[in-house]
Amino acid sequence: MQTSDSAREILIRAVKGTRDLLPPSTAVWNHVEAVARRVFEAYNYHEIRTPILEDTQLFARGVGQETDIVTKEMYTFEDRDGASVTLRPEATASVMRAYIEHRLDQRPGVQKLYYMGPMFRRERPQKGRYRQFYQIGVEAIGSESPVVDAEVIEMVVELFSRVGLENFTLLLNSVGCQNCRPAYIELLREELAKVAPTLCEDCQRRAQTNPLRVLDCKVPEDQPAIDQLPSILDHLCEICRPHFETVQRLLKHRGVQFEIRPRLVRGLDYYMRTTFEVVHGALGAQNAVLGGGRYDGLAEALGSKIPAPGIGFSIGEDRLVMTLEDRISVPSLDLFIAALGDAAVERAGLLARDLRRGSYSVEVGFDGKLKRSMELANKLGSRYTLIVGEDELARGRYTLKHMASGIQEQLAPEEIAQRLRAKE
Ligand SMILES: [Zn+2]
Ligand SMILES: [Zn+2]
Repeated sequence: MQTSDSAREILIRAVKGTRDLLPPSTAVWNHVEAVARRVFEAYNYHEIRTPILEDTQLFARGVGQETDIVTKEMYTFEDRDGASVTLRPEATASVMRAYIEHRLDQRPGVQKLYYMGPMFRRERPQKGRYRQFYQIGVEAIGSESPVVDAEVIEMVVELFSRVGLENFTLLLNSVGCQNCRPAYIELLREELAKVAPTLCEDCQRRAQTNPLRVLDCKVPEDQPAIDQLPSILDHLCEICRPHFETVQRLLKHRGVQFEIRPRLVRGLDYYMRTTFEVVHGALGAQNAVLGGGRYDGLAEALGSKIPAPGIGFSIGEDRLVMTLEDRISVPSLDLFIAALGDAAVERAGLLARDLRRGSYSVEVGFDGKLKRSMELANKLGSRYTLIVGEDELARGRYTLKHMASGIQEQLAPEEIAQRLRAKE
């Protein structure tokens, strides 16, 4: 076999549109996920983990045959046995599939599930958008009540506040139901027919195929005309209107601030009533960090005979982390042990083991040279350095240096943990 020099020189890199998450940035990811778990569990949500690989039909039916996601962006391929499988582009359809498959409707109460993990869409790579991206989300399945909607939305605000996001705005709307929406869409279609020629190409197409999506258009020139279109909130039925009013009343009662946006819609048929989004000031035009809504028809779309009304949201974790990155401090190294010589390495190993059992983060330097060890301790940002040399071994007391102040002390092993416990 022959390997050409040029082939050997090509470095293998991460697949286009994917990326490695490296420390220290992974500390921010972990912070976000840890806060999310705490908040979700306080609201009695429990984690669900579904496969990343699913039957392609699940997304064709669950996300919608006509959507960009399904027509252009899915990683779909034929498995070795000929079955068509897809890397999940989102998780709601998977969670609903699992809910139906495992008859979670027979468990007591509303099923409150959360997930976090990678999703895959073959979009054009750009800043803040990746083909493997991460979502954190919840689904509350088994009730149509506006009480559930209010609780889910309250939890969103709680989560973003606790995670440290500032300047975010919660946008709220109702998109009606199968009873009231078709008439509204018809009206929209009629009004659009009058203005469509002045709108962008996407709008012209959507005016025909999916008029609701016109409301999503971000082209600045189109905005005045779109703002003049009829509002869905003037066309809600006798079930949807009070449902939406109750959601708003409950949120106000709990001090949750929101803004009503009649143009906030979802292009998929099974979405109904409450929809919401969280936008963040620092992210510019593509500024949504969270999207959510009620999807009472999804189970039926997946072929289930068990009704499973639900509401959920998903957070774009990549974007959320991007907005937090400068502000979350990375946990620092508590102690660097400079072991000078073979005997010292052995002793340092025991000292490190005992301190690590006490949950201190400890690094052992086995270089043997004091100066180089101190330099490394500095570069690693260690709070303290412990010197273990011949003298220290003989005396059983070790030199602990506080790196910021330079203060040194001779301490017995049991005194070291005490010093580390001090915060600074
Ligand atoms: Zn309705
Ligand atoms: Zn447009």
